[in-house]
Amino acid sequence: MIPHSKPSLEPVDEEAVMDVLRSGQIAQGPMVARFEQQMGEFLGLQGGVAVNSGTMAIELALRALHIGEHDEVIVPSYVCSAPWQAITRVGARPVLADIDPETLNIDPASARLALTTKTRAILVPHLFGLPADLDALQQLGVPLIEDCAQTLGSTVGGQRVGSVGTLTVCSFYATKLLCAGEGGMVLSNDTTLLEHIRQFREYDERPVLTLGSSNLKMSDLHAALGCAQLRRLPEFISRRRRIAEAYNRALPINPAGQRLIGPTVPPNRTHVYFRYVLRVKSDAPSVEAADPADAWVARFHAAGLQARRPVFRPLHHYLGHKGFPASEDAYRTTLSIPIYPAMTEETLRRCLAIFREVCGEIDRD
Ligand SMILES: *Cc1c(COP(=O)(O)O)cnc(C)c1O
Repeated sequence: MIPHSKPSLEPVDEEAVMDVLRSGQIAQGPMVARFEQQMGEFLGLQGGVAVNSGTMAIELALRALHIGEHDEVIVPSYVCSAPWQAITRVGARPVLADIDPETLNIDPASARLALTTKTRAILVPHLFGLPADLDALQQLGVPLIEDCAQTLGSTVGGQRVGSVGTLTVCSFYATKLLCAGEGGMVLSNDTTLLEHIRQFREYDERPVLTLGSSNLKMSDLHAALGCAQLRRLPEFISRRRRIAEAYNRALPINPAGQRLIGPTVPPNRTHVYFRYVLRVKSDAPSVEAADPADAWVARFHAAGLQARRPVFRPLHHYLGHKGFPASEDAYRTTLSIPIYPAMTEETLRRCLAIFREVCGEIDRD
């Protein structure tokens, strides 16, 4: 089975981790400081605070803005559940917005409708490697928290993703764009906010007891891996783009009245293809089950290729809310197929052959 995603780990990564291991200084130390500085430089920001996960990075970004009870935070329904977890943990209320049907990112018009006097921030996940419409979101006049867990190194209107919001969060989970095993970071140009976040990350040797402080640190072992991966990020991105171009050339495919189409990249935005998402557009909806994405995932599995729904379940499903037609449609019709820098040319050829094989089978049925 061709895996859906996998980290790109090479001898340089092993050496970086082994150096730290041999040094004897393995908990949070100089490597964490270096990783924070290098990520800050990469995004053109003053600095960052490394923590143990992306979810915790979102939570601390909210705490830094003093967001809590009686406050509202706008978040798109079509996203993983980490933002919902973080927002509710600080005591605030997540208010859902719908997405743009083309880019699958938060729709600024829907976010505008969700604004109230209690809105304290908009959480902006840049999904699948494509930036959200930061320009339009900035005009809403509410602090933006950019969630760059899936998108680093893309640009929108000439601005680098992650450099626009009041705060930016990243995740370094094993299969993200660059990995540290687990880990996250909050970055900003506002050093006061970053200092505030540092207070929460560790509890020991403080002049006063800070309510809410915990042990949320990253270790130097993880940070060393993060630094080694960050150096290879430009190479990772070009490999992802080359794979995406090969998929683009194989599309659209159109067996038995069902079009499978690739991602759209609006003008003025660049894509880093954290995911390669396919949309199923049925010309004859009655032919397919209620969720065409499921049927395609099953077909690819049977042929030896692991495909997935790129968002497991939209938030409005978990919460039992109605509406959100673009999120609903994306959930029903979107699947992602293998893309990662460690994919060999041989595996890529296999993937393309499976495309043809699966489509041929449908046409014969
Ligand atoms: C992965 C991810 C997170 C959570 O990061 P963890 O490190 O897994 O806690 C948050 N937001 C988005 C968009 C993600 O993809």
